Order: sequence, then C-alpha cells, then structure tokens
Amino acid sequence: MLLTAPPVSTVVPSYQFASDNTSGICPDAWAAISQANANSVASYGDDPWTTRACELIRELFECPAEVFFIFNGTAANSLALASMCQSYHAILCHEMAHVETDECGAPEFFSNGTKLLLLPGERGKLTPEGIAHAVERRRDIHYPKPRVASITQATELSTVYSIAELTAIKEVCHRHALRLHMDGARFANAVAALGVAPKQITWQVGVDVLCFGGTKNGMGIGEAVVFFRKELADEFAYRCKQAGQLASKMRYLTAAWVGLLENGAWLANAQRANCAAARLEAGLRTIPGIEVLGSRDANAVFAKLPAALAAAMRERGWRFYDFIGSGGCRFMCSWATTEHETEAFLADLRKQVPSP
Ligand SMILES: *Cc1c(COP(=O)(O)O)cnc(C)c1O
Repeated sequence: MLLTAPPVSTVVPSYQFASDNTSGICPDAWAAISQANANSVASYGDDPWTTRACELIRELFECPAEVFFIFNGTAANSLALASMCQSYHAILCHEMAHVETDECGAPEFFSNGTKLLLLPGERGKLTPEGIAHAVERRRDIHYPKPRVASITQATELSTVYSIAELTAIKEVCHRHALRLHMDGARFANAVAALGVAPKQITWQVGVDVLCFGGTKNGMGIGEAVVFFRKELADEFAYRCKQAGQLASKMRYLTAAWVGLLENGAWLANAQRANCAAARLEAGLRTIPGIEVLGSRDANAVFAKLPAALAAAMRERGWRFYDFIGSGGCRFMCSWATTEHETEAFLADLRKQVPSP
C-alpha cells in the first residue's frame, strides 16, 4: 500500500486543547533529567536528586513535610487517602472530583473499601455547609463514618478555592475531626491564579496531605505526595512499594522536580497556562453563538459550542473534550500552549462562524 501524506488542512492544526497532559516535558525538567542521566547513582530514592527534590519541596512549602514521589495522580490520591482511613470510614468529595469520576474506584480499592460520599457544590467546590451536613445527617453505626474531606485545587471546573474558603473548610473539618486531603494535580495553577505562597493554601489552612501534580505542570511522569503532619506518613513508604509506586530509578522522577522547582519553572509554567486560558476565554467571548460557561480561574475554559461548530473544528484537527457535567466543551491549556496556537484556534473558529 502506498502511503500518502494527509491533506495539509488536517496536518497543520495538530494543536491540542484536550488536556494539559498532551503537552511534552518542559525544558527545565528535560535539562535536569538529562543531567541526572550523566552518571550512575544509588537506586530507590537513595540518591542526591531525590534528596534535593525533597529539600526543594520543603523550602517551597516552608515547612518540614514528608515527601513521596509517585508515578501518577490516581495512585497519589488513592494512597494518600487510604493512609488516613479505615475501611469503615468515608471520604467526602465533590461529585465531579477526579477521585470519584476518573480513578476507576482506586481510592476505594487501596483503602480496602472506604466509601466516597459525593457532595454537590457550585463551581466544582465543596462548601463548609455541605461538609457539615454530610457529617451531621447520619451519625449511627449503620453509616460509614466520615473521616476525610477531599478537595481539588484548582478544581476540575478550573476554579480555585480562596484562602477564605479554605479557612472555612478547615474550621468545619476541625469541628468534625475530619482530615483534609488536597488533590493538587493543578496545584501550581491555583498558586498562580491566587498569587499566594504555597503554604497559605495548604498547611496554614489545615491541609494534612497534598498530592502535588508534576505531570500537568511540565514533567513527563510524576506527582509528589506531601504530608504536612509527619505522623500521617508513618509506613506510607510500604503502601507505595506494595502498590508498585516505588521507582527503582527514582532520579528520573525527582530530577524533573529539581528542574521545575530550582528556578521557579513550576510557577512560570502554570502562569503561562493560565494566561493562555485567559486569552482563549477572551477570544471565545467575542465569537457569536459561543457561550463561555462558569467562571474560570485556572487553565481550562469551558464553553458551549453549537454541535456543528464543534464537529467542524474537530474535523479540522482540533482536539478538545465534551466535559461530562459541565454541559459544554473543555479547552485545556498547558505550559506549552503558545499565543500562536490560541490565536490560530480562534481564527479557525471565526472562519466557521458566519458573521452576523
Ligand atoms: C489529571 C488529574 C489527576 C491525575 O490523574 P492521573 O491520570 O492518574 O495522573 C488527578 N486529579 C485531577 C483533578 C486531575 O485532573
């Protein structure tokens, strides 16, 4: 069979707004990995890159945290949650939370059956009232005992919890002896959006454990589980190993963290992604027939497009998801999204929409 090149129109827009994990490894992480590749070091994390990555994370959070490096977010969330629960406990989370919608039951599996209790909430966020209600509505022995509240920062709907909102959640958690887990797959984007120090939206507002996302921030593989209370990390290393999450060549995960953290690339990457989303959102708002949904803080824009328009754009090679629960399409920007790409996408959209 003769291979023929596809027509130019399907080649040019290879641009991606499907996910921030369609992007590659950012230059800072790549350079550090390359440096780590220059010589042999001890395995299983007993190496200078891993030591340095831990130090940098403690410096970033300005506290003596316990840090573990995991391959992906599902494992990070599931193992972190499991470490705080017995099988008869419950985890309170938003109905759109990744732990519920995108982890194939892994939190329940790794915790030997801890139940997720789903709560509604505007803009993808839990509320103190919702958490209190979930605890207070049943206290009998027949119901799983709420033990952890899990929040996502930035949320699945590209919003962020403010310091005030987090403080209110901290208070309700404290009142009901709930531990607080933060899914921070896009933690950097939240820090960039809020313009705060990482500690202000983690341990200072009662977060016990953070799953700090590296992959979507510009690494190839890797998340860090950051315990702000040492006792919660007790025996966590065994959980990681048993779950197949202890990398033998750990330096390839941790060098990337060093690359991201040493010169602030983690924040610059997130700022770039958030700015790209802001640009995209502003452009979408000028196009007739397109309705921007919700209110964006971070690096994704949600919008309702006429079905024919979405289909035409996909036909032209653009990639984006219909996002379940949002009622629209999701356009996700990453550290690698360029102004050129965003403008090309908007220009292509305008071409498909007849001017009024
Ligand atoms: C991407 C993502 C994760 C991690 O997913 P993995 O595919 O398991 O790495 C976790 N939480 C949220 C909110 C995410 O968007």
